[in-house]
Amino acid sequence: MSFATQNYDGCVVGAGFAGIAAAVQSARLGLKTVLIEKSAALGGVAHTGMHQQLCGLYLNTDTSPKETLNGGLSREVAEGLLARKGSRALNMGKLAVLQYDPQQLNHLLSDLVKMETNLEILFESRVEAVQVENQTIKQICIRTKEEKTWIHVRALIDGSAGEVVRLSGASYELARAGERQLAAYAVEIEDTTGDPHMMNLKVAYHLARAAESGEIGRDLRYSIWLSGRNNHNGVLRISVLPSDGIYDVEAIRNKAIRVHEVLKKKISEFRVSRIAGMAPGVSEREGIRMTGRYRLTEKDVLEGRKFEDGHVKSAWPIEFWDQRKGPQYHYIPDGDYYEIPTRSLRSRDITNLFAAGRCISTDSKALASVRVTGTCLALGEQSARAMCSYLAATPGDNSEHPRFSANEHRCPSS
Ligand SMILES: Cc1cc2nc3c(=O)[nH]c(=O)nc-3n(C[C@H](O)[C@H](O)[C@H](O)COP(=O)(O)OP(=O)(O)OC[C@H]3O[C@@H](n4cnc5c(N)ncnc54)[C@H](O)[C@@H]3O)c2cc1C
Repeated sequence: MSFATQNYDGCVVGAGFAGIAAAVQSARLGLKTVLIEKSAALGGVAHTGMHQQLCGLYLNTDTSPKETLNGGLSREVAEGLLARKGSRALNMGKLAVLQYDPQQLNHLLSDLVKMETNLEILFESRVEAVQVENQTIKQICIRTKEEKTWIHVRALIDGSAGEVVRLSGASYELARAGERQLAAYAVEIEDTTGDPHMMNLKVAYHLARAAESGEIGRDLRYSIWLSGRNNHNGVLRISVLPSDGIYDVEAIRNKAIRVHEVLKKKISEFRVSRIAGMAPGVSEREGIRMTGRYRLTEKDVLEGRKFEDGHVKSAWPIEFWDQRKGPQYHYIPDGDYYEIPTRSLRSRDITNLFAAGRCISTDSKALASVRVTGTCLALGEQSARAMCSYLAATPGDNSEHPRFSANEHRCPSS
């Protein structure tokens, strides 16, 4: 297919959790939608970082969670996973998460997008330029292996963790590398032995000592172990100091190998274990945050603030991965939640630009709560509703952009 000739009502960039939810919802609202993803896979950083837990779905509770905090797609994904093998909702202290089998999640996400006839997905297609006129995005440039093409855009949702925001010239915030949350690099480990339950504590203890003695770098001090589903595997997530430049993935892989060697030497359960897979790149916890029409703050999160346009709810704590102190948790009051206003999903500068997922308008601390996958799903869905309302209220500009027929769409009024 040559997409040069295609007209789309809605355009979503990035097929992470937020982008997928945005694209599916946009298609369900009757918009002819394109989802553009630079890699060959769905799932974004949750896929490349080998995640196994959906966080941010539930209220904080000591008992087993019954229902998701947000309805819509996050509930659909949660129920879809729970109906499949290898998933269960579990409590970690007062936090509830949904543990899943990554393979099952992949199937579920592919089924979700395949069902939408209004949705076209372009994999291995990178958005590399954005043309803006009169504070409106007009076209985007997409590069594939074969071609480079400009397509017209009526409205766009950035689910790319802020890459489109940056390319468009819209204002955004990005903390200095030295202040940003720790990034991570994931390594899959197989053939561990013994009881997996205490292994995360043993890893934390031995890596802290190894970092103190200089056996490994201090930057690796906050690396963690996540046991897998079959008791003999898991993911080693080594901590990486954020950088403004390109990461030296080869050097990071060597550090991961070094950490694994230390674990093999110090912890009996790792003695015969082996590295089974390595992530393609570094996973960032914090990046570009678009400047929106409202900037969600740490105070809003911790006080459980509600908003008139607060359609997305979250109770996940501020989980700030401090470079010097490691993970710092600050909780929302028990049984409460905060709301994210739709204004935080809309660019202050560019009329037809929306954001979903971890690039919405927040301060750095609020992002440390907002960024989890359960919340990203709900944000994606809400960004599509906001885009749809915008399109319904904005006349198409010319014949290249026939306005989608008013009776074909189901956009909420703005
Ligand atoms: C180390 C780490 C551990 C985490 N652990 C958990 C956890 O256990 N549970 C949990 O719920 N959350 C966890 N999170 C948070 C969560 O995984 C992410 O914040 C969330 O998945 C972000 O989703 P997103 O859709 O906003 O962005 P991403 O997942 O980053 O998706 C962005 C997508 O955009 C694509 N893209 C980027 N630029 C372009 C471009 N120019 N053109 C086309 N496509 C582009 C990328 O390839 C990617 O697929 C963790 C995060 C990190 C970093």
